[in-house]
Amino acid sequence: MFHAPDSLPDHPLRFLFIDFNSYFAAVEQHDDAALAGKPVIVIPIESEHTGAIAASYEAKALGISRGTPVREARAICPGIAVRTARHDRYVEMHKLLMSEIERHLPIARIYSIDECACRLDSREQGLAVALAKAREIKAALAANVGPCLRSSIGIASSPLLAKLAAELHKPDGLTAIETRHLPDALAGLPLRAIPGIGEGIAKRLDRAGVEDFASLWALPPKQARAIWGSVVGERFLYALKGHDIPDEMPRQKSMIGHSRVLSPQHQHPGAARIVARALLLKAASRLRLYSLHAGRMTLAIRLRPHGWFEQDCAFTATQNSWALLRQLNALWDRATGTFDHLSLRSRIGLVSVHLHELGGTGPEPDLFMPPAERIGEQQEIALWAKIDGLNRRYKRQVVTLASHRGLDLNYLGVKIAFSRVPEAAEFDC
Ligand SMILES: [Mg+2]
Repeated sequence: MFHAPDSLPDHPLRFLFIDFNSYFAAVEQHDDAALAGKPVIVIPIESEHTGAIAASYEAKALGISRGTPVREARAICPGIAVRTARHDRYVEMHKLLMSEIERHLPIARIYSIDECACRLDSREQGLAVALAKAREIKAALAANVGPCLRSSIGIASSPLLAKLAAELHKPDGLTAIETRHLPDALAGLPLRAIPGIGEGIAKRLDRAGVEDFASLWALPPKQARAIWGSVVGERFLYALKGHDIPDEMPRQKSMIGHSRVLSPQHQHPGAARIVARALLLKAASRLRLYSLHAGRMTLAIRLRPHGWFEQDCAFTATQNSWALLRQLNALWDRATGTFDHLSLRSRIGLVSVHLHELGGTGPEPDLFMPPAERIGEQQEIALWAKIDGLNRRYKRQVVTLASHRGLDLNYLGVKIAFSRVPEAAEFDC
């Protein structure tokens, strides 16, 4: 049960948030001395037709950023270093960075592969001491890990405020936000830049007349609860005001899924469908690894040159790959059914499959389902658990659908690790 605090005192600086700058590109610079201080981009697959998933600060200074197509980056900077992502290496470096940080402060929570929040104890919560601690961590990271791994550090009374403080100055920033300086200190911050305000919530806020940080700040918490449609809105507002509300950023996985930029041989609908099915099977395997069930699926297809086609469907929560594949088939037919009037030369550039509404337990037994079907469902889940075990044991896809034979699954699994830290076991499946 969540109890709202009843007053808003000036809060001590309890959290230090560390966000590594241009993380993937910085790891590439760290590993290859020739790249240090140079423009570098990281791409998801080895192709001239893809876009950057990370850009070093030297590349950003030239106007190249995440999403810039490789050709455009080369046109802007002919000598730019283009590196294909090495996600296992990024996870390895993440572990090294976290263990160095832990020598200085306890880590309260890891938010993603390049972000964590540390807790300051009561002796460290004054401005001067907290800033000195942050400088100590930056110096230790440079000396003991490497000078390429620069970070922006934010200090504030809640992890949410500390993250916003870290966002204010990049690269290599250090910013403290004291609650007595709010809302002025964040007055210019667009609402969409705040974690917890996605497109849907931003629209609802807009309809409620909340268009900037100052009006968000003035929003009564009960009103936030009404806008969000749950206690999450109230928690969010208290965290924004500097209260140390446990779990103010979601800890539970909210979705599992994969996207893939398609190489030319997979860009026609038949081949792209096979890739989508392989992506779903990877996601379903992770679902079972975490003992979760999913109740909703989204499919997004980028059809060049027409744009995005998205479909979603809800179903009885399951972790059975066969049941999920049946849902995907229906989604695929719905999505591609809308292509028919489009040019035959259209190509599918990217497919993305995500599972949502994740829960630890499966559905209540469906009393109307014939017993034979119920037993069949249980047998299918048991079969997939065995397949997961075999694939993990032999560290590759030894058992898969016949249509996936020969498909390069190398980077299907853990392609872009921005929003989470992959488990070691995910690399094995
Ligand atoms: Mg970062």
